[in-house]
Amino acid sequence: MRKKIVAGNWKMNLDYNEGLALFSEVTNMVKDEATGNQQVVVCSPFIHLHSLAQLAKGYSNIAVGAQNAHQAESGAYTGEVSAKQVKSTGAEYVILGHSERRQYFGESNELLAKKTDIALANGLKPIFCIGETLQQREANEHFGIIKSQLEEGVFHLDADKFGQVVLAYEPVWAIGTGVTATSDQAQEIHAFIRAELATKYGQQVADDTTILYGGSCNAKNAGELFACADIDGGLIGGASLKSRDFTDIVKAFN
Ligand code: PEP
Repeated sequence: MRKKIVAGNWKMNLDYNEGLALFSEVTNMVKDEATGNQQVVVCSPFIHLHSLAQLAKGYSNIAVGAQNAHQAESGAYTGEVSAKQVKSTGAEYVILGHSERRQYFGESNELLAKKTDIALANGLKPIFCIGETLQQREANEHFGIIKSQLEEGVFHLDADKFGQVVLAYEPVWAIGTGVTATSDQAQEIHAFIRAELATKYGQQVADDTTILYGGSCNAKNAGELFACADIDGGLIGGASLKSRDFTDIVKAFN
């Protein structure tokens, strides 16, 4: 049975002490909420990773992730952080291809394919983000965009490696805007993604892949979104910065 995941993306928020305090609150509140195959992942800035990973050791259903990692193993890339370095902190996951990285740092599908390879080679599980802009949706290009992000970003992987990948469908027009995709819109794309996975890797791999929804997901809309057949949880930005809101989203699983 595929994993159900609620992952928080803190983005570039919280200083070191604020991050530790929030994580302690979150772990206390969600430890009994995520059960069985449900998992909570907190994707923090690099500065928090090691400390959070130490704290997460006490909980089987809580893990830590980074929000990015470089595509090279190591070297003269001042200011960058490698997948190996991320892994050495105790982090298990890494967000790759977030629309903010695609938009502000020019990350292409081709680059993201390289980042995915190096993350997997270092034992990290990528949370690989895909999603269309408003302009692309209005031009009815969203299915084609999602398909090419999959084909160019992750479909070079063999089925074994792909099995380590979590996908996150995040329509760019819904991220941080307060506008959420309706559950019908989100389910339609998630079903499309799963059908693409079945064509590429077979039905079993498609059925085993966790596909998260992200984009202004909150305690009010999470229940309806997570009840959809092909939505396996959420990637949460703004609402992950408040322990009560984040916990209420985790509770929406049940
Ligand atoms: C995100 O950044 O991945 C995200 C979904 O943000 P928000 O929940 O704030 O829309």
